[in-house]
Amino acid sequence: MASGTEALRLALQACGVGAGDEVLTASHTCVATVAAIALLGAKPVFVDVDPRTYTIDPDRLAARLTSRARAIVPVHLYGHCAEMEPILALARRFGLRVVEDCAQAHGATDRGRMAGVMGDAGCYSFYPTKNLGALGDSGLVVTGDPRIANEVRRLRHYGWSRQAGRTAYGGNSRLDELQAAVLLVKLPRLEAWNGRRRQIAAAYREGLAGTGVKCPVERPGASHAYHLYVVRVAERDRFRASLSEQGVETLIHYSSPIHRLEPYAVAPAEARELSVTEAISGEIVSLPLYPELTEGEIEAVIDAVRRATQER
Ligand SMILES: *Cc1c(COP(=O)(O)O)cnc(C)c1O
Repeated sequence: MASGTEALRLALQACGVGAGDEVLTASHTCVATVAAIALLGAKPVFVDVDPRTYTIDPDRLAARLTSRARAIVPVHLYGHCAEMEPILALARRFGLRVVEDCAQAHGATDRGRMAGVMGDAGCYSFYPTKNLGALGDSGLVVTGDPRIANEVRRLRHYGWSRQAGRTAYGGNSRLDELQAAVLLVKLPRLEAWNGRRRQIAAAYREGLAGTGVKCPVERPGASHAYHLYVVRVAERDRFRASLSEQGVETLIHYSSPIHRLEPYAVAPAEARELSVTEAISGEIVSLPLYPELTEGEIEAVIDAVRRATQER
């Protein structure tokens, strides 16, 4: 696919999602997750997240279901798989499709199963900053369902199929060959890179113990791919300013929940149902984490955080 967004949009379309349908997903995510739903004319329905893992809270799904619900898009945010077992059980019970957003979860697993193979389809992005990145935009749909595979192939290529000719509206969402070549070279290294990410995460967890900074949690049975290392702190602005003075850059993923962004804004009553999403968006901060970090740099980040939290 041409991008992760296109992967999501066409996988959902291939699952039968269209105008007027409702698709349940998280508001605490990259805007692309929600854009893919809205671009189909479907309505995103936001479900609050688990305060420990920041992924969709399965216990909150049922309350958001209506007769127009057609699919669920769990986001494996920051590289940690959403809790898929109860999500899949609910989808089976109500006849909903499940399309996993794996754009941050290359190599992540849940109960030994790779992100993307648990639902009807899984959607990856290879944007250069992802755990597996091309030199430009690109994406992928994985599915075990041949009908979805054929439909996605058709929709990404002018609506053309070998068997039936041009029988559907379709644009051009193909993967560029040069990006594919780069990805083939990089793919065998993904596991080692993820291993290094996990090592750095373990060093941070140990080094930041006792600072009051809330480190990411790995749900039992899940293996985190640590696309991002997102911690929670009180007095975030001060914390970030102190780190910045010490030469450590931080970012915020994401500063505004999607339901607070103009085109996706929801009514106040609906926003009140998203209290965890709202609470965490003011406290989260991403520390530097990528496989190339050196031992010295990891130590420097830990020291800087310890200093920033002692200053209070
Ligand atoms: C990056 C990302 C996307 C979109 O991928 P693009 O390739 O940039 O279109 C979708 N969902 C999540 C969670 C992402 O991080």
